[in-house]
Amino acid sequence: MEQEVVERREFSHGAQFLLNTDLTIRGCTLQFGELMASIGVHHLLGRSVTDFLAEASLQRFQESIARLEHTHQVITDLVLTGPQGRQLTLQALLQAVMDGGNRCVQVRTLPSSLLRYPGPESEGDERLRFLMQLTTEGIVIHENGIITDVNQALLNLLGYTAEEVLGKSIFMFAHPDEHAAIRYVLEHNLDFLGIRHIKDRQGNYRPMEVNSRGVVHKGKAIRVLTIRDVSEIQRIRAEEQRMLAILEASPLILFVFDREHIQYMNRQGMAALGYDSLQEVLQVAPEHLFAKNFRGQLFSELVPEAMHSGKWEGQAILRRKDGTQLFVSQTLLAHRSETGRLDFFSAICLDISEEVLAWQHARESQERLKYFMEQSREAIIIHENGQIMDFNDAAVSLFGYERTGLQGLNVLQLMHVERTPQLREKILQWPQVDEEVLGVRSDGSTFEMQVRSRRRTYKGRQVQVLSLLDVSDIRHAEQQLLRSQEMLQAATQAAHMGIWEWNLVTNMVAINEVLRHLAGLPASCSELDFASLFEIIAGRGLQKLMIGIRRHLAGETSMLSEVLHTREINGQSYVLEIKGRLVRNAQGVPVQIIGTAQDITERYKMEEALRKSEALLSAVLQTRQEPIWAVDTDLNLLSFNSSFVRLCQQAFQCHPRLNQQFTAGEHQAETYKWHQRLRQCMQQGTLIFVDEMNIGPKRVIMEFTATPLKAGDELTGVSVLGRDITAQKEFEASLQQARLAAEEANRLKSQFIANISHEIRTPMNAILGFTDLLLQMKLSKLQREYLELVKTSGESLLELLNDLLDLAKLEAGRQELVYSDFCLRSLVAEVKKTFQAKARQQGLVLKTKVHAQVPKCIKADKGRMRQILNNLVSNAIKYSAHGTISILIDCKSVLNGQHQLYVEVKDTGIGIPKEMQELIFEPFFQLGNPLSREHGGTGLGLSIARHLVRLMQGELHVESQPGQGSRFYFSIPVQAVKVGQSRVRSNKS
Ligand code: ADP
Repeated sequence: MEQEVVERREFSHGAQFLLNTDLTIRGCTLQFGELMASIGVHHLLGRSVTDFLAEASLQRFQESIARLEHTHQVITDLVLTGPQGRQLTLQALLQAVMDGGNRCVQVRTLPSSLLRYPGPESEGDERLRFLMQLTTEGIVIHENGIITDVNQALLNLLGYTAEEVLGKSIFMFAHPDEHAAIRYVLEHNLDFLGIRHIKDRQGNYRPMEVNSRGVVHKGKAIRVLTIRDVSEIQRIRAEEQRMLAILEASPLILFVFDREHIQYMNRQGMAALGYDSLQEVLQVAPEHLFAKNFRGQLFSELVPEAMHSGKWEGQAILRRKDGTQLFVSQTLLAHRSETGRLDFFSAICLDISEEVLAWQHARESQERLKYFMEQSREAIIIHENGQIMDFNDAAVSLFGYERTGLQGLNVLQLMHVERTPQLREKILQWPQVDEEVLGVRSDGSTFEMQVRSRRRTYKGRQVQVLSLLDVSDIRHAEQQLLRSQEMLQAATQAAHMGIWEWNLVTNMVAINEVLRHLAGLPASCSELDFASLFEIIAGRGLQKLMIGIRRHLAGETSMLSEVLHTREINGQSYVLEIKGRLVRNAQGVPVQIIGTAQDITERYKMEEALRKSEALLSAVLQTRQEPIWAVDTDLNLLSFNSSFVRLCQQAFQCHPRLNQQFTAGEHQAETYKWHQRLRQCMQQGTLIFVDEMNIGPKRVIMEFTATPLKAGDELTGVSVLGRDITAQKEFEASLQQARLAAEEANRLKSQFIANISHEIRTPMNAILGFTDLLLQMKLSKLQREYLELVKTSGESLLELLNDLLDLAKLEAGRQELVYSDFCLRSLVAEVKKTFQAKARQQGLVLKTKVHAQVPKCIKADKGRMRQILNNLVSNAIKYSAHGTISILIDCKSVLNGQHQLYVEVKDTGIGIPKEMQELIFEPFFQLGNPLSREHGGTGLGLSIARHLVRLMQGELHVESQPGQGSRFYFSIPVQAVKVGQSRVRSNKS
């Protein structure tokens, strides 16, 4: 901005006015007041000039003012609304000026424009002349170069009389060098504003500012020249330039300022204060040129003194751009305008920093040293080569010596020399030491001590001054602080907890690392303003948070607690629980809110999932036909479905209520029963109860399954599911009846078979007996052959009858075991003997093996054991064409003195298909294979054997592979009998 600032001094005469930047009229000349005659000067001041501007010129005027930002001056047309509402069209020169330290605009109406003042025709010339005389500027009116009129101001300016100029050519007064230019302006009827050299009466050409305008007056084309003597201004400007050059070259720091602005600073000043350009300096507020700690003095001493006597002299402290201080010796001058009003200050400063530093250095001279020493709360010791010369009271008490004890001691005796490397050398030789060492008291105890050592001149000698400070407490406190800070940090880190402190005064929010990370901010950012922080992180819930904060600030809540969803940060959005509390200062003024931001994303997700699953569960519950309900450990109803409501209404005539204890309404006994059941379930786990009850008009059987509810290991209540099992129970009852009937029928049948076979056995024995007798008699060969057939048929029939009788007895449950003590090994030997011949006859090997752990003598039913073994071995032989039959007896385990006897019969015969392996134990079942037919048999043997093993508390099993052989085995508990106790001798049994 190249803006010429014209001093107010020029604003003195003519139709002029001065505007503030807001366009109010700051001042005006009497002449302007006369122009606006009907209004009067005092009515103009303070009013906006726009009130007097016709709308037509308002915009142009404002644009012109704006142009002043970039140029010295602007000429523009003004259409003023004058007396009686008449409009005056004036030409005006606008210039930016300073007035009393304020930037304002000076508006000078140009005399040429006065011509357009539309006065009444009759008073035209009169009025014109009057107006011409109003101005201090020279006015020349000419027609085609011939001067027709001038004003007194012009005559005064150049020293002519009216006669000497009127009717003369303007060229007579113009400098010959400028004639051509003037001619050009006239010929082309141009307006001109500029400097022309005009001859005064003494014959000197003087530079004048000439403003030439062509106008039409009373039908004639005339020119009005306004002439202003600028020689004085130019001289002043030249002088100013010279001054400026001197100021710029001066080694002094110079600057000019008013109350609000710095107006000027010389080059030396900018260099000393660290500014790069005048432009930059002009932006600075004047008080900022002075050091902060000096500003008080500036306003209390310098300025008042300068204003009072026009001058202040003394030492001042300036402030450099970088904030450092500059000591100067300063002369401050106050400048006043003609009206006595304070215009500006000029400051002339000499940089005396060097001297001040030297002086400060001097302050540390021995006098001051001694003084400080005594004043200091730090222990101070002065020594020369270790020898203590002087010390203060603090030193005496720090080390616990008597005053006399410390005198003459070696400083190294006050320190643990070994602990700090090179300590001796440092203390005795180094010019400057800053160390933390271990101090030693007179009693030998030690403490953390800070040592500062400086070389000084004292009493004319080179000494070392030690200042000593016990820092054990500080170190301890520091460590404590550090530890608690670390702990807090660790805790907040571990809890992944963000911390924020919102300073309500500065509106800045300090945040910790966790929150910084959550917000995705760089590590360098530990503080930012409140709005930015939440702008960065907030996604959903910001509005609610703001309302929460407002309510908390208004004191409606004791704690701020809101949930905020962040936007996507680091590819993830978080749910933060924002908590905070207002902190007030001692005066009760809110100063900050301190709070936390906890990442509860996982918890929130879980709760969300829980809400969903609860909704699902309740939907499922409600659609179930079965009554379902749950109680907590105090038996209060947690939840239930509509079927449960129906049950309560229909069975107990009551209505269940959530969170109230479960009762069966008026039915106290029922309530008591249920409370017992629910408590029992909590103690014992899942329980099933069956109740017969009236639901409405129906009698039903309900089955209730009560299951403890657990959250992890903790018992939280019981859930109960009811099921109507009436139909199922009825079905079971009818089945039971059918079974009983069938069993009875079976028993009767067995009874019948047992009776009948017994009845048949008696005549059968007679038949066989007599057949035997007959066979001993002399018979023909044919007779004997027939009789042999009768005998084998009879024996087969008797065998069948025996089997039938056995089975019938077993099925009717009438068979009982007969216990005796016997030797199992002998029994096995007998069985082997029985089948040995038959086996050999079929080319089979029959092997037996009784393991050593099998007791010698046992108590069992020997006959039935033999029957089982006989049956299994005879089958094995029957269904094996080759190979080996083996009998194995083992003793598996001993439990409570009982032996678990294992019996196995294995063959290498035809085997049994898998699907038949259970069927062969059914009575009368025989495999439909020719081989089996071939071997005859009744199909009762295995059935009887299984019954007998069961009677002995065992189970007969089979394992078989067709073509590979079969293995029949069972285990039964038996009592071992010691041989001595045995009543029956083994070989006799
Ligand atoms: P049976 O008097 O017919 O032998 P069982 O009740 O003793 O009657 O046996 C039933 C059926 O089981 C037999 O007909 C036979 O088909 C089959 N069976 C029994 N033992 C064996 C075995 N060791 N090997 C092959 N098949 C066998």
